[in-house]
Amino acid sequence: MTIVQKFGGTSVGSAERIAGVAQLAVEAAGRGDRTVIVTSAMGGVTSLLVDAARRASHGNWSFDERPALRARHLEAAQALFGNDRVLVELVRDRVDRGLDRVDSLCFGLSLVHELTPRIMDAISGTGEMLAAPLVAAAIASRGISSEAIHATELIVTDDQFGDAEPLFDATRAKAEARLGPMLDGGVIPVVTGFIGATADGVMTTLGRGGSDYSATILGATLDADEVWIWTDVDGVMTANPADVPSARTMRAISYSEASELAYYGAKVLHHKTIIPVQSAGIPVRILNTMNPTGEGTRITPEGHPSPTGVKAITSIRNVSLVSVSGRGMQGIPGIAARAFSAIAAERASVLMISQASSENNICVVVRSEDEVRVVRALRNALEFDIMKSHIDDVTSDDSIAVIAAVGDRMAGTPGIAAKVFGALGEEGVNVIAISQGSSERNISLVVPETDASRAVRVIHDAFSLGEKS
Ligand code: ASP
Ligand code: MG
Repeated sequence: MTIVQKFGGTSVGSAERIAGVAQLAVEAAGRGDRTVIVTSAMGGVTSLLVDAARRASHGNWSFDERPALRARHLEAAQALFGNDRVLVELVRDRVDRGLDRVDSLCFGLSLVHELTPRIMDAISGTGEMLAAPLVAAAIASRGISSEAIHATELIVTDDQFGDAEPLFDATRAKAEARLGPMLDGGVIPVVTGFIGATADGVMTTLGRGGSDYSATILGATLDADEVWIWTDVDGVMTANPADVPSARTMRAISYSEASELAYYGAKVLHHKTIIPVQSAGIPVRILNTMNPTGEGTRITPEGHPSPTGVKAITSIRNVSLVSVSGRGMQGIPGIAARAFSAIAAERASVLMISQASSENNICVVVRSEDEVRVVRALRNALEFDIMKSHIDDVTSDDSIAVIAAVGDRMAGTPGIAAKVFGALGEEGVNVIAISQGSSERNISLVVPETDASRAVRVIHDAFSLGEKS
């Protein structure tokens, strides 16, 4: 079997955890699996690098985190294979080279004072380059051949820095050529997650949390049998346990449920993770390195439909509701088109849209960090309509949250919306806006942020999601 196993930041966060990863690699080799490992940066490292880049662009180039980052990686090396001088030297060399790179880039930034997404990627993606040699050496120290590989050699992307998209044909050719012979020869490649490179070789990243996506991109291009995503929770849950203490791990969900949930704030997966494996039907497992024998959640084309329709409830915070309203909008074509073009030009992503058929109001939910830009862009784009009083105003509210009920079997099952809104009504939670796509796999609603936890809890209870299905 060919299996891509991805380890997140917590799973490689310390010497002890990396030892656990190496152990899983040894077990895979014992089973005769062809294994590709994809690693994140050690937990917290990417955020430190992002901070360093920001500070450098404000003129402070000193990269103060350097000694601590170096110590963290080298201490882990010492603890994992300190008796093997060759391996320790190799890791030290790679770590120093990675940190030198960040140093030079920060220095450059402090001179130009301009932090472009391109330079941010070059800096933020370095954490994985520090972790991969450490993980590979830990595996090698257990007698299994292993080599760290930069994904810049494998994953070819477009040049949308900070959120790059893979180019599959080019990636397939590179990944097969580079990894195929290693796998045939029993070597375990440890690939840096999160990063890729343009066709010209300029480093890109796939967006924060992007190592999951790296794993499924490689899984698809290598025709893997499965992709395993190792994280620090038991799988995908019916709700965030911080909101709902009775939330439980789902044994199986479908690709579409996983995508809906990833998008809607269940932070287990990067929101694009499922896309690469979808057409080939490659199963994905979410597993817990703290509980390696647990079953986790299996993500497959069909999942395991819930008889009640709804499988999980999620909430998204740090979002804002932006409304364009005015009675003069009725029957005037093109307002929505102009509004959405303006939002797209700001590269702000729209999480939810709602317009009632009276056409008096169009509202969208965007990330709060985009709110001010979106409102300004809408006011500009609709200036003429505001002048003519077709539109009264563009307003925004950041004290809201979006709640979504998700499940494949919701499609075609009557009564689900009634149950959702009935539960909220009984609990006295006011619903500000509603949206359901025609796929019927998701009902999303906007509620005041202060009611979000309560809303998730009552819907979770209404569908008895805390009980074993
Ligand atoms: N290290 C990157 C991040 O923290 C990518 C990942 O962990 O998936 O966002
Ligand atoms: Mg993650």
